Amino acid sequence: MREISHKLAFVHDAMPVRYGDVFDPNNGVVQARVALGDAALLDRAVEAAHKAQPAWAATNPQRRARVMFRFKDLVEQNMDELAHLLSSEHGKVIADAKGDIQRGLEVVEFAGGIPHALKGEFTQGAGPGIDVFSMRQPVGVGVGITPFNFPAMIPLWMSAVAIATGNAFILKPSERDPSVPVRLGELFLEAGLPEGIFQVIHGDKEMVDAILDHPGIAAVSFVGSSDIAHYVYNRGVAAGKRVQAMGGAKNHGIVMPDADLDQVVNDLTGAAFGSAGERCMALPVVVPVGEKTAVALREKLIPAIAALRVGVSTDAEAHYGPVVTAQHKAKVEQWIQTAVDEGAELVVDGRGFSLQGHEKGFFVGPTLFDHVTPDMSSYKEEIFGPVLQMVRAESFEEALALPSKHQYGNGVAIFTRNGHAAREFAARVDVGMVGINVPIPVPVAYHTFGGWKRSAFGDTNQHGMEGVKFWTKVKTVTQRWPDGGASGDSAFVIPTMG
Ligand code: NAD
Repeated sequence: MREISHKLAFVHDAMPVRYGDVFDPNNGVVQARVALGDAALLDRAVEAAHKAQPAWAATNPQRRARVMFRFKDLVEQNMDELAHLLSSEHGKVIADAKGDIQRGLEVVEFAGGIPHALKGEFTQGAGPGIDVFSMRQPVGVGVGITPFNFPAMIPLWMSAVAIATGNAFILKPSERDPSVPVRLGELFLEAGLPEGIFQVIHGDKEMVDAILDHPGIAAVSFVGSSDIAHYVYNRGVAAGKRVQAMGGAKNHGIVMPDADLDQVVNDLTGAAFGSAGERCMALPVVVPVGEKTAVALREKLIPAIAALRVGVSTDAEAHYGPVVTAQHKAKVEQWIQTAVDEGAELVVDGRGFSLQGHEKGFFVGPTLFDHVTPDMSSYKEEIFGPVLQMVRAESFEEALALPSKHQYGNGVAIFTRNGHAAREFAARVDVGMVGINVPIPVPVAYHTFGGWKRSAFGDTNQHGMEGVKFWTKVKTVTQRWPDGGASGDSAFVIPTMG
């Protein structure tokens, strides 16, 4: 059986004690096993990172940026291979896997401009003969802990900015689809990145705990589900680290009575069912405003859902593929049952979906619920599958209150032709990322990604200048260059510039 190893800066020949299974979700079989590391392995990786980091930090930012350009070229040259590998472990269709990689590359492009982002501030003449300037210095050795659902994009959100700002970075990817992160490590080396600046160590909770407690790690960036994000944040901060921890989501799409419903249905089917709903920026909740909107939307959604093609991830015609594991499929189907038990109306049932020739694959058919209400647990919690829930609202205010009061606050979208309503909505909704007639409002790389409430713990977002802030420390220098001779008496009071 194929074995997936760590990507380290040193020779590690100890036999792994534990392994994790990596499935082919299209067929339900174990296709590889991944070596799971322990605290001793982490120690050695951190040591190697510390050894490599000072010289990398001392490399001028333009040279660091050049590695990003070369890396981007290499990823593009290997796009087909990477997309197939990603798709074979995750289950997302090839075009979507390419999108996953491409969105990551956009952050690599942003990191190519790092000399500009690292310029400090300068004040000449802040006092008599005194200048003040600031510089951004790398935090040292940082770690990224990433989820299964974007095995290329999220590791690149973190690593591109961390590395370009002069840090050494260790990636602990999801143990469910670990191959692409390892390939990215190989391509970074090929692009000229020194050994030890990007390493990959596989593991589960045991490794995550070792990371959080390790005194040699200055910063941890985490993306995953909320309970674990909260745990990672608390434990990492208690150990004195800088931590950002992004969590789960339950994004709403508000449909105003004046919206273009055909466009909304197109957008919704892609955003709710694309990648089998396994996106933190999926739109699993739709909120039509007014009875007429709800009736018309439902009428159009049913045939659009019936037309969806669920297939193996290499099927170029398929809209989406299987979910990641049998366990996840069971969890999604359990949520469907819970919603039924809670009294939601099951309009389209995706359970029991079977694909001929792939009967053991982890497929879930598209599912639609109507008359979902905010008190239902299936509404309050994240399902993370191809399940769309319709919550009817009578007014704009009622619709606005739904995402605002929800425990998650990652993304939200409003569909309308009314600029005033859209403007009001964007200003008042208690959610971190807003789309106006944009169903999946993932910000571009030079802006910044991050939700609110239980969708993110910590103060800084991913990528853009927020990412630069997370991966660097500001140092402020106050300097005076006397023109010779003694310059007055000792000062026993706090110096002021007055
Ligand atoms: P997950 O929380 O199960 O795993 C995330 C990481 O945590 C993995 O590397 C995993 O190995 C590790 N981990 C798992 N169990 C752990 C434990 N008990 N203690 C410590 N570490 C543990 O998440 P997932 O299922 O891989 O990914 C899906 C989740 O990620 C969804 O909730 C989704 O909304 C969320 N997500 C959020 C964002 C965002 O930016 N907000 C982006 C993508 C995914």
